[in-house]
Amino acid sequence: MKTDFKCPHCSNLLNAGPNIVFTSRNRKGKEGIIMLHPELGNYSVNRHPDFDVPNDEMLEFYCPYCKEQLKSEKNPYLAWIRMSDETGLEYDIHFSRIAGQHATYKITGKNVETFGEDAGEYLDDLK
Ligand SMILES: [Zn+2]
Repeated sequence: MKTDFKCPHCSNLLNAGPNIVFTSRNRKGKEGIIMLHPELGNYSVNRHPDFDVPNDEMLEFYCPYCKEQLKSEKNPYLAWIRMSDETGLEYDIHFSRIAGQHATYKITGKNVETFGEDAGEYLDDLK
């Protein structure tokens, strides 16, 4: 078993090759596919160049299967997905919806692991 990422609503797998795949919408309402790196703390992003995402823009992330918005209940600036690791353990992953902001949280029970230099930003909401 290896690391997988899932939609918290329909449990379908979101990772394909070296990407986690989302449908997304920018502030102007334009939709596009966005692919994030599955390694927590790696913020390389793949998207079509026509899908314009300036830094500081807040994106909406959606599950490509069930179309539910992947919104964190902890903080409106965060998105939420599920992760399972190679041992089968499951985690909640919350990450910043703001382009260029590097904040990711891996949560199991009361244990919060942080990634990214901006992780201090929302930490109080995740404890
Ligand atoms: Zn879904």
